[in-house]
Amino acid sequence: MTASAPRVAIVGTGVIGAMAAWQLAARGAHVLAFDSHGPGHDRGASAGESRIFRTVYKEGASYVPLLRRAHRLWRALEAESGRALLTMCGGLTIGSPDEPDLAAVRRCADEAGLAHEVLDASAAAERFPQHRLDPDEIAFLDPDAGVLRPEPSVQGALDAAAHHGARILSYQHVEEYAETATGWRVTAQGEHHDVDHLVLTPGPWAPQLAPLDGLPVEARLITACWFAARDPAAHRPDRLPIAIRRHSAAGFSCFPLLDGVAVKIVPHHLGWPGLDSPEALPRGAGTDFALAASAAVERLLPGLIPHPVRISTYAEGFTPDEHPLVGALPGAANATVLTGFSGHGFKLAPVFGEIAADLVMSGSTHHDIAALDPRRFAVGTQRH
Ligand SMILES: Cc1cc2nc3c(=O)[nH]c(=O)nc-3n(C[C@H](O)[C@H](O)[C@H](O)COP(=O)(O)OP(=O)(O)OC[C@H]3O[C@@H](n4cnc5c(N)ncnc54)[C@H](O)[C@@H]3O)c2cc1C
Repeated sequence: MTASAPRVAIVGTGVIGAMAAWQLAARGAHVLAFDSHGPGHDRGASAGESRIFRTVYKEGASYVPLLRRAHRLWRALEAESGRALLTMCGGLTIGSPDEPDLAAVRRCADEAGLAHEVLDASAAAERFPQHRLDPDEIAFLDPDAGVLRPEPSVQGALDAAAHHGARILSYQHVEEYAETATGWRVTAQGEHHDVDHLVLTPGPWAPQLAPLDGLPVEARLITACWFAARDPAAHRPDRLPIAIRRHSAAGFSCFPLLDGVAVKIVPHHLGWPGLDSPEALPRGAGTDFALAASAAVERLLPGLIPHPVRISTYAEGFTPDEHPLVGALPGAANATVLTGFSGHGFKLAPVFGEIAADLVMSGSTHHDIAALDPRRFAVGTQRH
């Protein structure tokens, strides 16, 4: 660390802020990383045992270079933190061939020239009997997919950041932001901190952050359910890939068993309702939700006992086009925003940490993030 290195305040150490802290501190910045809660907490977007990593990206082939770089950085963080974070187990997208997600993964694989297999229903039943397919359905297999561990990922990135000299300020809510002649003054717990640059990574708390006023991020509730496996060995990552299931009766993400007991599903077809604030996150889901999730499991995942053994709720920030906001904060100097990851940001977090460090240290990045520029929504925004 040198005296001329920038002083940087990061607001929010979910996975995105934690990765930014790691990357910035590794390049010698003086990092203060604030969070209102503790590392790996379960009120925001970065907890809940498992996350999907995929390379054939239904959200668009333009993400593939970012995903490849993220993969390398996940391995670098594993080496630096001494933690196992990513297990490659392959990834399935299952449904009727005309489902939009099936068409999207085939398009992405073609455009980016990515390895894949397409299995008809009987081939899929033979290889992956954990899933029940209708006779006209197919399974698309992405070999470069896997499962991530969110809580150790956040802790690992924060430990690595601290090792490079970052100050991790947990349970310190940043309540005030003021632009100064040379940067920003942030106030947390009544104490002022003067920095050269501000990095805003508040996830679903974005609507509550004054400097982000005018950017369209909505906090939404995402509910995850765990179902006990009749044969746990058949549902571990060595036999069960991650999956995105599309069916006329239900849609969900499915995660292999990591705790020795249960498979996680995140239902998509039951809706992700808006939240006034992540601080108002409800605990658990109602009976109707549990029954509907059980019906989906009974119909499509025959190896699971169709009654949830655990239900947990999380908050995530969504943008109108479901692509994140990454770049300079419109209408302000020396401020970078990374938020609104819209349900698919975890796997990409290390590369967005690298991009945050590029933007702070040199004002630009070689990664192509033009489509994620917050200014696409900020026309006419007057902040000062
Ligand atoms: C249930 C669920 C399943 C998902 N599944 C996948 C998946 O399989 N694969 C995938 O790639 N992505 C997935 N996602 C999306 C991914 O997890 C998120 O995009 C990612 O975790 C977003 O991280 P974040 O750092 O932006 O937000 P968060 O993790 O919510 O972090 C924001 C942090 O900011 C802090 N903060 C806010 N305001 C302040 C303040 N004023 N002062 C101090 N601290 C503040 C909060 O306390 C919080 O810790 C999923 C999301 C959810 C919720």
